[in-house]
Amino acid sequence: MAIATINPFTGRTEQEFEPHDETEVDRRIAEAHAAFGALRATTFAQRAEWMRAAARLLEADAPQLARIITIEMGRPIKAARAEVLKCAKGLRYYADHAEEFLAPQPLADPSAVGASSAGTRYAPIGVVLAVMPWNYPLWQVLRFAGPALMAGNTGLLKHASNVPQAALYLGTLFERAGFPVGAFHTLLIPAADVERVLRDPRVKAATLTGSEPAGRSLAAIAGSEVKHVVLELGGSDPFVVMASADVARAASVAVTARNQNNGQSCIAAKRFIVHTDVYDEFTRLFTAGVAALAVGDPLEETTDVGPVATESGRDELEGQVADAVAKGATVLTGGVVPDRDGWFYEPTVLADVTPGMRLFLEEAFGPVATVYRVGDREEAARIANGTTFGLSSSVWTTDAEEEDWFVRNLDVGAVFVNGMTASYPELPFGGVKDSGVGRELAAAGIREFCNLQTVWKA
Ligand code: NAP
Repeated sequence: MAIATINPFTGRTEQEFEPHDETEVDRRIAEAHAAFGALRATTFAQRAEWMRAAARLLEADAPQLARIITIEMGRPIKAARAEVLKCAKGLRYYADHAEEFLAPQPLADPSAVGASSAGTRYAPIGVVLAVMPWNYPLWQVLRFAGPALMAGNTGLLKHASNVPQAALYLGTLFERAGFPVGAFHTLLIPAADVERVLRDPRVKAATLTGSEPAGRSLAAIAGSEVKHVVLELGGSDPFVVMASADVARAASVAVTARNQNNGQSCIAAKRFIVHTDVYDEFTRLFTAGVAALAVGDPLEETTDVGPVATESGRDELEGQVADAVAKGATVLTGGVVPDRDGWFYEPTVLADVTPGMRLFLEEAFGPVATVYRVGDREEAARIANGTTFGLSSSVWTTDAEEEDWFVRNLDVGAVFVNGMTASYPELPFGGVKDSGVGRELAAAGIREFCNLQTVWKA
């Protein structure tokens, strides 16, 4: 794939970028490696000062950055602005908490191990490679970079090929904020060049957010090099609505949960599993809400849903829906590619989806929802757990016993009760099954790329 800004609203290529050649990649790895030597010697207080400066730069650049996000991947401008501000908040969170998360942990009774003192400390490990997706071009990167740099690591970013302007901005942000040159570099390289970077002995670990095949490929290479990886992969999150739920509220939140970011969020609710007692009411309200979304130019403040980010992504959705319809699914709204420029797909709700249809198991990465009628909570959990994914989930019920039952019985990285899934700097984020390994955010996230060093003194 060419490294280029191709505006999904028009389908036109706005700017192409020359990939970095081997010499340039090597130079950047060397700088990141050298920067590690400098950064690990700094204090948390110094790094926090630079991190807060980076947050201020993001806020100052927010209008220009939001426009880059919208033009490169089609996110509605109001949501793009919110993404920039969320990033600034995330960086400040780690500026405030990194030292506490990485504080040494002494053993209460060192005599039990024959020592005068013993315990653990967290040490940075070096250069970490981040392979990132286009769907939240800033947030996905900065939720890795903030904790990594606060821990004293340095980073190399291989961003998705369709968001090069965001990648270039991020590649200079931390240097502008005061961090040593090379503390966080962008590599403009195609996916095929990731292997060479990951096998470089100066690169100690990797994180990838993206599709399952990309994750498997990166993990296989890292495994052969005995390097640690964090993988944040796909999801087909269930949104379960039980009979006692506030159905009107659930239906209203469901519209946002499915269609946020033009339906292209790993943690978007994708499968709506509804108790038969409230199925008709929920489906009517949900379908009406989806049909009422304002689809259009993502630079317009009033737009709710813009185009899908890539032509191939739009074609994939079209194929998934066509497959379901050919096998008997019912289109409640949408289900078509609108007759207009750009890579739009009409926000869609499908019912009567059955095993054997692609959408029963596959992730729909765009504004396409499927609804399922279930008779009880066991059936709801069976469908919810019935894909290879296990990222997050949302459960709607006012029965406290039922809330706990779902928390215990869903095989997922997170359960949100009576609310939609979101990522917060304060809460760990990650999945089980094919949705990935490891965690980002909170204390768990910063510790992923640290050496938990045991120290024993006689
Ligand atoms: P993708 O095709 O896997 O791309 C993600 C990144 O991986 C890009 O930088 C891409 O580079 C690179 N890449 C692709 N194949 C690779 C390979 N074989 N080796 C190394 N790098 C490779 O994913 P996407 O289509 O952009 O993103 C959508 C997917 O990401 C969805 O499945 C979504 O659910 C998932 N996602 C997960 C999370 C999470 O936190 N769990 C968050 C956001 C998105 P190129 O662009 O150059 O191909």
